Amino acid sequence: MIAGTSTTRGEARPAAQLARQLALQAWAPPVGCMELILTEACNLGCGYCFEYGADHHKSMSAETASAAIDLLMDASRDSTWVAVTFMGGEPMLMFDLIRDVVDYAGREARRHGKTISFDMQTNGVLIREEHARFFRDHGVRYCLSLDGARLTNDRHRRTLGGSGTFQIVAAKLKMLKRHQHWQGARMTVMPDDAARLGENVRALHEELAINQFVIGFATHVAWSDAQIADYAAGLMDAFEYFLEQRVFRRSRRIRIGLFELGQLDAAFVAGRRGAWGCGAGSGRLAVAPDGSLHGCSKLAWGASGGSAAAALPPEGLRPVGNLPHDGLRQVGNLPHGGSAAAPLPLGTVETGFSRPENRLKLLDHSEGPRTKCHACELASHCNGGCHAASLADTGNMYVPADYFCKLMFAQKQACDHARRRLAELGVPSLRWGADVPDLTDHTQRAEQFHAGVE
Ligand code: SF4
Ligand code: SF4
Repeated sequence: MIAGTSTTRGEARPAAQLARQLALQAWAPPVGCMELILTEACNLGCGYCFEYGADHHKSMSAETASAAIDLLMDASRDSTWVAVTFMGGEPMLMFDLIRDVVDYAGREARRHGKTISFDMQTNGVLIREEHARFFRDHGVRYCLSLDGARLTNDRHRRTLGGSGTFQIVAAKLKMLKRHQHWQGARMTVMPDDAARLGENVRALHEELAINQFVIGFATHVAWSDAQIADYAAGLMDAFEYFLEQRVFRRSRRIRIGLFELGQLDAAFVAGRRGAWGCGAGSGRLAVAPDGSLHGCSKLAWGASGGSAAAALPPEGLRPVGNLPHDGLRQVGNLPHGGSAAAPLPLGTVETGFSRPENRLKLLDHSEGPRTKCHACELASHCNGGCHAASLADTGNMYVPADYFCKLMFAQKQACDHARRRLAELGVPSLRWGADVPDLTDHTQRAEQFHAGVE
């Protein structure tokens, strides 16, 4: 129990406890990863965020957080490793709760013979040196939400007063790197900045010393075909920069997951695919501030406070396709959004998985319901889209919108380009830990490289 809380799961009503226990039965995989949405509130007013301006923000209580950790210990069953991710809104608004959860979850993990890891997605603005020191000392890794260089970042990521946030975060980077040497950025690529993706990766690496890039295109916004082509070209630019750093400069200070993780390897090209779906609601779970359970944080947004009336799309954004609820929702790779109800609630931290019919939908990894994917030439390379984005766009969790599929093709185009370039250079893989041949003074290949860039 987190200090100061007054109830524990053991004091829950017997019927609720029974339902919870039944719902944790072994028909589903163990849950090892839990996103804790500590608050819907944020210290910023990003233009692309539907939460901005709404007055319905809820935050998680210590009791709920404590019950969520208890659930994780149970639902992870025999797994010897569990992971907790702090999410928001802006989770740093709840630093005191983060500190208490780290303490409590650490003790509970030890008691259950599990190792535990913590991470956090944050805009970074509120992290002071004492926070950074705490994160370092307690092994809490964080990833910064940064969209790119100042021009791109500040177009959407702004303070409540409307100023850009790039410089605020940039001014902290030196201090942050003293405590967490390896810094990652989650980049949300908006249609109007897709063409600048490569230069944005370069700027974040060279100006802010960001090491790792998680690149995701914005969903539930309108993408024109020209912007989708920009996205493919922007990814190729980002790859060329990555190649320059990793191969020609032999740098071990940069990673871009899209060009690692085996996507470029022979087995992938040969069409060996995993199961459909993304793992939301299977091995992963999100807990909303009110204690309700969801497949992932994007499926949870709005679960406990969104207001349909507040959710008018900001200028430049418009909803795509049919919406599942009466409110507009912003899901996928955008920071957060609000709606009257989450589409697939799984239960609560007290009752456990008391909505097994919804969990079964998330656990369906078969091709059957993914009708649009049956005849798709990308079927061997794609997991069938994002349930949250598809629900928002088409109202059917298994049927992605056309723009989404076109963006997946754009990603494949960039990966094909990357594969060709590596083949030309005789580099087998850029997977982390893979042996990258030393081409630093291989003049002919360096010339080929520069010919490809220019
Ligand atoms: S691109 Fe679209 S239709 Fe094709 S496999 Fe992926 S989600 Fe399915
Ligand atoms: S792909 Fe979509 S549904 Fe799956 S975890 Fe990511 S945001 Fe959630």
